[in-house]
This record gives sequence, structure tokens and C-alpha cells, in this order.
Amino acid sequence: KGPDPDVEYIRAKLSNVKHKILVLSGKGGVGKSTFSSQLSLSLARSETSEVGLLDIDICGPSVPKMMGLEGEEVHQSNNGWSPVYVQDNLGVMSIGFMLPNPDDAVVWRGPRKNALIKQFLRDVDWGDLDYLIVDSPPGTSDEHISLAQFLSLNADADGAIIVTTPQEVSIIDVKKEINFCRKVGIKVLGVVENMSYLSLPLTELKIQDLSDPGRDLGAKFAEFVEKEGLKDCFAFAQIFPPTKGGAEQMAKEMKVPFLGRIPLDTRVAMAAEKGESVLDTGSGSGCKAYKEIVAVVA
Ligand code: ADP
Repeated sequence: KGPDPDVEYIRAKLSNVKHKILVLSGKGGVGKSTFSSQLSLSLARSETSEVGLLDIDICGPSVPKMMGLEGEEVHQSNNGWSPVYVQDNLGVMSIGFMLPNPDDAVVWRGPRKNALIKQFLRDVDWGDLDYLIVDSPPGTSDEHISLAQFLSLNADADGAIIVTTPQEVSIIDVKKEINFCRKVGIKVLGVVENMSYLSLPLTELKIQDLSDPGRDLGAKFAEFVEKEGLKDCFAFAQIFPPTKGGAEQMAKEMKVPFLGRIPLDTRVAMAAEKGESVLDTGSGSGCKAYKEIVAVVA
């Protein structure tokens, strides 16, 4: 059997993309799509960077919403499908744009999913890109194997970023994910630990006395914050029990880079809700964490 012409075509088409980054996670709900979206928005803050975000999380495309593009449609041009643009230098392509009803579930079998992935990679007219970020489904599946084949993540700048929470159940799956990458020849650019801890600005903290719900502690606390000048202070708390050093220790054991910790932060959730970069908020632990991670990736 000769070489697959589609593979050759796609590889040639994407050969000018300077960085191809596949975002992976072992489990759903760890913040993979939030990370893909925020990474894309943050990279595109530099006006000289051309960024494309491809969402192939076919069963749960959440990228349109997280990029502020709900209800948008993809258009056909002479050169293929045009991505939907958030701004001049940031285009997005998602199966979500093609579903007539955003609440529709896509129940497709492997071959059909693979055909769609192939079509996305072959027919989307990205123009010249500095970064192509690919948000993939959780776990390892046929789709990931075809992605690895089509994307040909061989260049030094290409590879996978794996998102996890600090919990043991999630970290065990990351090890599987790393082994998968090794097996199919994808370089692991690094592991990101999301929801590492809770970070809340004191100005947004609500306090309730459960034994006396009528007691108004909020006003008193706000007064204290004001009086002590604590406007830029944050309350931190561990949510998930840390497992033997969390993702950082696991990354060390598996000999892959650790890119950083992102807190569970209302500003990250709100930025994701509005399709804005959390870097635009200019402050807070989530902003700081993203700034550091984006600097490494860029
Ligand atoms: P996944 O793609 O892994 O299934 P999502 O990116 O959809 O996960 O995230 C699940 C939910 O958690 C979303 O509602 C998102 O806004 C929220 N979320 C993810 N990361 C954070 C964070 N660091 N701080 C606050 N909320 C977050």
C-alpha cells in the first residue's frame, strides 16, 4: 500500500505552520478546552502572531462558546472553509459551528469522526499561521492516532500539552497519555496542572455563618478589607487532596517538562465565559499563571 495522498497533502499544507500544538487530557472536565481557548487568545494578544484554534472535540465542542463565537457559521470560499475570526489574527474552526442546534449531541462512530478530522485539516483555509492549537477529545482514541499521523508533529516546536487536575485519578490517566504520545511519536511539550488550588480576591469573598444564616458577616468583612487595604489580596485554598507532589512530581518521574499550575479562579471562568483572554484582566493568580505558561509556550 502506497502513501496516503491525503496525509501527504495535509502535511504539505500545514508545513508552514511554525508551531503545531495538540492539547490533550486523560479525562473530561479538567479544563482542556478552557486551556486551549485561553492559550489561543493569549498568544493572539501579540499582533504579529497568527493563531488558529481547531476544535475537534467532536462529542462536546465547547470552543465556540469559550471564544465568544456562539451561533457563528463557517463559510465556504474558493480556498476551502474559512475559519470564524475572533480578530484579524485569530481564527477558529469547530464542529460546533456546523451543528444546526448547539444542544445536539454528535453520536458518530470512529470512521466518520476520522473523516471529519481529515476534512478539517485538508479543507480549512488557515492562511499562514504561527500557531495551530488543536483541542482534541479527552483520552486516547483512533482520532488521536489519525491526528498524530496527519499533523506530523516532528518539528522541535511541535508537540502536545497535557492538561490535568492534581487528583490522583487524573494524574494516572496523564501517565497513559504520555505513554501514548511516546508510542505514536508525539513530543510532550509539557504538563499543565489546572484547578491546582482555589484563588479568590478578598473583595469577592462571600461569608456565611451556617449556624446563623441571618447574620451579615459580608459587610463587616468588606469593611475589614477596605480598612486594611487588602484590595489586591487573595484567599487561597487547596480543593483536591494533593497527591505526592501532584502533576509536577509525576512530570519529573515521567521526564517531561512541567509548565505550571493554574488556580481555580473566578476570573479564568469569567474570561472563558466571555471569550476573552484572562491576561486582559491584568491581575489575579489565574492571570499570573497563564502569563508564565504562555511565555514558555510562545
Ligand atoms: P474539558 O475541556 O477538560 O472537558 P472545560 O475546559 O470544558 O474542561 O472546563 C470545565 C469547566 O471548568 C468550564 O466551565 C470552565 O469554565 C471551568 N474551568 C476550567 N478551568 C478553570 C479554572 N482554572 N478556573 C475556573 N474555572 C475553570
